[in-house]
Amino acid sequence: MTTLQPVRGTHDLLPEDMRRHRFVSESAREIAALYGYDEIATPVFEFSEVFKRTLGEATDIVTKEMYSFAVGEGEEITLRPENTAGVARAVISNGLTQQLPLKYFYSGPMFRHERPQKGRQRQFHQIGVELFGVPEPEGDVEVIALGADILARLGLLDRVRLELNTLGDPESRKAYRDALVAYFEEHRDALSEDSRDRLTRNPLRILDSKERKDQQVVAGAPAFDDYLTDASKAFFDAVKRGLERNGIAYQLNPRLVRGLDYYCHTAFEFKTDELGAQDTVLGGGRYDYLVEMMGGNPVHGVGWAAGIERLALLLSEGPSTPRPIVVVPIGEAQGEMAFALVQRLRRAGWRAEIGFSGNVKKRMRRADRLQARAVLILGDEEAEKGGVTLRDLDSGEQDFVAEADLQARLKRFI
Ligand code: ATP
Ligand code: MG
Repeated sequence: MTTLQPVRGTHDLLPEDMRRHRFVSESAREIAALYGYDEIATPVFEFSEVFKRTLGEATDIVTKEMYSFAVGEGEEITLRPENTAGVARAVISNGLTQQLPLKYFYSGPMFRHERPQKGRQRQFHQIGVELFGVPEPEGDVEVIALGADILARLGLLDRVRLELNTLGDPESRKAYRDALVAYFEEHRDALSEDSRDRLTRNPLRILDSKERKDQQVVAGAPAFDDYLTDASKAFFDAVKRGLERNGIAYQLNPRLVRGLDYYCHTAFEFKTDELGAQDTVLGGGRYDYLVEMMGGNPVHGVGWAAGIERLALLLSEGPSTPRPIVVVPIGEAQGEMAFALVQRLRRAGWRAEIGFSGNVKKRMRRADRLQARAVLILGDEEAEKGGVTLRDLDSGEQDFVAEADLQARLKRFI
């Protein structure tokens, strides 16, 4: 029955997936906290305007990828396709622009109606950080360093490369945009249909096209470098110097553009060769005009987002769960005592289970299946002596342990 299938482009996170997922988000949260970025959560849906106004009416996300719903009285809401706009909205709504700088971390689901493929889903999850109120290039360096440290904690830093570009200030961008449009107009016939469409909507995005046809045209396109104002060049130089001083390697990629309208100056992506076309695991940049575009006071911003699924795909092995201690009561009479014991273990911080049903052999087999570290056998004799028989499932050895000594004995298994 089709209704019992997950909706196309969505996935269940079964415990094994969830472990990897949480390893990514928890590692990121911890490292973000070291940098002073505390977690924020904004609603999963917002008024559509929040995204339309900020991402830009012409972007791929706004034109084709948003899940939007009419909710009566001419109001429309959208499931968030990304979280920067939502966080900026929260900063304005809560009047936080008086307390700059602000440093936020987030983690949660995003929704985009795009063609599902490996590493590309319709509900996916992102971690991300936003830094508001720091106009200096040190802000860019800080968020990139934070991203690099998270990738290092996940064991992925040496499997990705950092690509870097500048989109300049609005003046540089306008001059470059005009030059690009003139060039692409000349080569209009050689462009893909999508890119011909982008020519009027979002010409910069053609640089980023994955179509071979476009890439040939793009190869001869004018370079942004020649159109950067001196101030934009100086800003970019300072970012590059900061990265070098921090030992963060990067490659310049003059074709790197971010898909969203609110970016300026620094654009960066950490990419991998291991995921095919979906090669960006973490991407971000500076967005000095976003808060103003939304109707707030001008506030500088820089941040990034990373796809949790893509990072999880790259993890060689998910983190393991602690192996449980299994309590096996032998007779009816020990059932209650076993329950009390397993509760004591749990309260002392052990992952503990009780082998309830079936004969003793079956209970022991279940302990094996749970990959228990040890089994605590509780029979008449043990009950009488005030303890348990502890069987170490790795060595196969077993001996009697008095209740009073039990915690100390179990500590050897940590
Ligand atoms: P792409 O060029 O891959 O479409 P994007 O520019 O749309 O990426 P961003 O909006 O910058 O991506 O999102 C940041 C990160 O979120 C991406 O680098 C990727 O890891 C992840 N991501 C984006 N869209 C999806 C998706 N549909 N499914 C899974 N992960 C995604
Ligand atoms: Mg995309």
